[in-house]
Amino acid sequence: MRDKNCIFCKIANKEINSNLILETEDYLAFHDLNPQAPKHALLIPKKHFSSLNHADDIELLGKLMIGAKEVAEKLNIKEAYRLVINTGEGAGQTVFHIHIHILGGRPLEWPPG
Ligand code: AMP
Ligand code: ZN
Repeated sequence: MRDKNCIFCKIANKEINSNLILETEDYLAFHDLNPQAPKHALLIPKKHFSSLNHADDIELLGKLMIGAKEVAEKLNIKEAYRLVINTGEGAGQTVFHIHIHILGGRPLEWPPG
């Protein structure tokens, strides 16, 4: 279930510190170390899936979506925010443990880069 070399598994296991926003038995959210917007959080399941393409737990994926809007509320960006799941290196994925970016606090361009 967990990958011993995975940085986000280590964060989920509290082996590496993070700036926590919220935590449940299924997932946790923390501030991104290299924020791309005034508010930039990451939401990760505690269970390891290397990407969305490998995530087959429908109930957990649903919980993550509900968790994402709770994070937006906690960050006071609920009126305007963006969720991003980079999937694959070509899309900018650098950490291979599924995560949802929650971005806001500034106008967000569309289409994204
Ligand atoms: P992605 O490029 O979509 O895989 O996103 C990975 C994100 O994880 C990047 O935005 C990084 O800034 C962020 N990140 C990597 N390591 C940490 C960490 N230890 N704590 C918080 N954010 C991190
Ligand atoms: Zn992991």
